[in-house]
Amino acid sequence: MSRLVVLAGPTAVGKGTVVRALRAMAPEVYVSISATTRDPRPGETDGVDYHFLDADDFTRRVEAGEFLEWAVVHGVNRYGTLRGPVDDCLASGRPCLLEIDLQGARQVKETMPDAHFVFLAPPSWEELVVRLVGRGTEGEEERERRLVTAREEMAAAGEFDQTIINDTVERAAAELLSVVRATG
Ligand code: 5GP
Repeated sequence: MSRLVVLAGPTAVGKGTVVRALRAMAPEVYVSISATTRDPRPGETDGVDYHFLDADDFTRRVEAGEFLEWAVVHGVNRYGTLRGPVDDCLASGRPCLLEIDLQGARQVKETMPDAHFVFLAPPSWEELVVRLVGRGTEGEEERERRLVTAREEMAAAGEFDQTIINDTVERAAAELLSVVRATG
């Protein structure tokens, strides 16, 4: 069985925060660094948070077949997982974790059906709305758009091998870590 674990879930559920906590607990887990065409936010570093690519470079790599999966997320920017580092990780026997959106998870399911698919869910829909509003990083219009996407994403939980509830970051990260360690 592949040691690849794919984590997806609705916008603002806290995927990034849970994965950061897992990283701190278990440096032996390889967490894939995605490529994106979006601009870096303050505090983000190229090659650490993302590989920040310009649109032409991203397209060139798509055409060269370098992506395991890629998608347009929230209608604007492209995000994708480069195949090379994931293959290297799997070949080394290290546990490997992808944190991607639902469209990307569906693509990986097509090409790597043996991967383990984990859905990160909020404790409730109301809590997800609170988190999205509380984050304050999006304007009103963008928030509405993300809520529509989040509703569709919540309906996809049944496509996954299992669901982890992000009630507290530490608990969810510990559960995810036990899944990652048990896979493979
Ligand atoms: P953000 O711009 O807030 O960092 O991320 C926005 C969304 O992009 C998140 O839902 C995240 O899961 C998704 N995302 C990040 N990396 C990838 C990737 O490599 N592939 C896909 N399909 N989605 C990604």
